[in-house]
Amino acid sequence: MHPNALQTPITYLKGVGPGRGSLLGRELGLETYQDLLYLFPNRYIDKSRFYKIAELERSGAEVQIIGRITHLKTISQQKGKRLVATFRDDTGTMELVWFRSHKWIQDRLKLGEPYVIFGRTNWFNGSFSMPHPEIELLSQFEGQQRIRMQPVYPSTEKLTKQGVSNRLISKWVQAILNEYSKQIPEALPAELRDNLALTGKQRALWQVHFPNSQKELAQARFRLKFEELFYIQLALLTKKNLRKSRIKGLVFEKVGTLFTEFFNNYLPFELTEAQKKVLREIRADLGSHAQMNRLLQGDVGSGKTIVAVMAMLLALDNGYQACLVAPTEILAQQHYQSIRELLDPMGISVALLTGSVKAKDRKPIHQGLEAGSLSVLVGTHAVFEKVVQFKNLGLAIIDEQHRFGVAQRARMWKKNSTPPHILVMTATPIPRTLAMSLYGDLDISVIDTLPPGRKPVRTVHRTDADRLRVFGFMREQIAEGRQVYVVYPLIQESEALDYKDLMDGFESIQREFPPPSYQISIVHGQMKPQDKEFEMQRFVSGQTQIMVATTVIEVGVNVPNASVMVIESAERFGLSQLHQLRGRVGRGADQSYCILISSGKLSQDGQTRLQTMVSTNDGFEIAETDLQLRGPGNLMGTQQSGILALKIADVVQDSDILKTARFYARQLLKNDPGLTAHTHKMVREKMARMEVFKNIWDYIS
Ligand code: ADP
Ligand code: MG
Repeated sequence: MHPNALQTPITYLKGVGPGRGSLLGRELGLETYQDLLYLFPNRYIDKSRFYKIAELERSGAEVQIIGRITHLKTISQQKGKRLVATFRDDTGTMELVWFRSHKWIQDRLKLGEPYVIFGRTNWFNGSFSMPHPEIELLSQFEGQQRIRMQPVYPSTEKLTKQGVSNRLISKWVQAILNEYSKQIPEALPAELRDNLALTGKQRALWQVHFPNSQKELAQARFRLKFEELFYIQLALLTKKNLRKSRIKGLVFEKVGTLFTEFFNNYLPFELTEAQKKVLREIRADLGSHAQMNRLLQGDVGSGKTIVAVMAMLLALDNGYQACLVAPTEILAQQHYQSIRELLDPMGISVALLTGSVKAKDRKPIHQGLEAGSLSVLVGTHAVFEKVVQFKNLGLAIIDEQHRFGVAQRARMWKKNSTPPHILVMTATPIPRTLAMSLYGDLDISVIDTLPPGRKPVRTVHRTDADRLRVFGFMREQIAEGRQVYVVYPLIQESEALDYKDLMDGFESIQREFPPPSYQISIVHGQMKPQDKEFEMQRFVSGQTQIMVATTVIEVGVNVPNASVMVIESAERFGLSQLHQLRGRVGRGADQSYCILISSGKLSQDGQTRLQTMVSTNDGFEIAETDLQLRGPGNLMGTQQSGILALKIADVVQDSDILKTARFYARQLLKNDPGLTAHTHKMVREKMARMEVFKNIWDYIS
């Protein structure tokens, strides 16, 4: 084959031309023959078997049945008439119904003759019916050659209008397969295909478009999904290997006096086993000769901060500086405070750099960083700016990664001549399978237990009608000295409306909880950072008992005395957001509560989300449900990632295939790291052609 034959523009296909060509490009992203080959059918019309009436299921499906018509009648209805045929096989009876053209049909139907019918069945009033079936005499049906499983391709209204029918697309695909399929190279090594009994590439492509049977289709799809996931895993693992072998990392050889002193004298509590395990993993990375690129996952309240601080001490012990970057001003503030509390007693200098730090106050920070007299910097995006230069940054910690993404991670690399070690912390539990695809090039650590003595937050679901009872409960808790959050949704599109909800809510809470007995804080996105900070501070210090807020409090704030989280319009929040919000309480020794208030009417998904929250506190379980409900594309942090570009596999549904693919990708790279074996030539060649591999070299800057 001409090596680029499959790169031929689709306009060369008979019946495409420039007009339809550019439409196909716009609507389905199709440019080349190859794109068409990889336009996989959404579903198939299964005409590979015949059903019996007795086997039909009430859920309705497209089925093909052989039987005879025994009666025909026309029934008058409000608008016009319908034609109803009684259709019978040796197992039962059903009805065929026509609302249009019944005269024409009635004239042609032959009572008592065997017919083949095809269509979608309905279940109504105790019997099955099929409106407007495809119908053909069995004698004619048998004389014809036909596709048994008809592919149904993705399409759009515009395409249909321009005459690009499903049949046409399937004709084009068939034409390409006829001409080129024999030349499509195998992309998986023979050994792997044998091991897993995988269908060959050419056959798989034929069978995925024009399957002979359900079984062949399943095998073809498995093979193509496997190949797709296998190469992504190869890409991620190659990245990781390159990083480990080619990028010299700063070597933190010693566990020095600062770490030891902190551990012996300043650690405010005993570390949990999970925290110790993670610290060991981090230490091993820092002491190896490779650069660390580690993701630390830990549910809200699992105690990631102390781990971050102790990792920083390892950097300091080896003569390096450390920084921590958080996604919001408030969160950076809190980190700054808790880190100072821990490090001040040891005489370690810590500074805070955020957007609201004034120019004149920045100067000394910049100077301190460049001179090396400042050891630890905590900040927001401001830290990424070019003017922020370190003498020798050894460790960069990024909190809540999904707010930043890969690009920012890369910017931290440039802050030192040898890239600093990077620790990314996230409180959004990422299901394992998704983590494998999203962060397959990172090492992953998990803090999977909470510090001892935590009582799980008790969660209930209430409706608007229960609000007075909720206020009563808040009063009781406040009387016991506790504090309460009341959170309102804030969704970009309807900001003005949400703001009104918040203000109405604030007023009614003010009426219910009047001064001087009660003090209320309010924080929302339209306030100036200083005002927000002031209000937060009043709540943190206990001057106010109630914090009314939009989701700005979502990430990170730590007020152990707060024991009630009331979430208004809870059905409007996503699961991971609800889980994050709930994580704001349950941080102290007292029993905490989360009250989800929704309207009485809920969508199916809304119902599932609230029920999930009521039934579990486990972040990973919640993340799993979230993934099932929304698919990977809508989860935070997945937007820019390649996993959305998958053509046939699905990281949720195909998690087993994903695991297998990762296993074999790892094995292949272990046995033949350079892919130099003759039998791996095709792998090497395919990798060289793949988009995902192009930016691997960015990692080696
Ligand atoms: P997150 O993982 O959400 O960032 P934090 O680091 O803020 O969690 O920790 C939550 C709370 O738990 C803090 O008040 C912290 O001091 C406390 N904490 C962390 N680790 C332990 C531990 N091992 N034992 C007791 N309390 C701990
Ligand atoms: Mg935190």
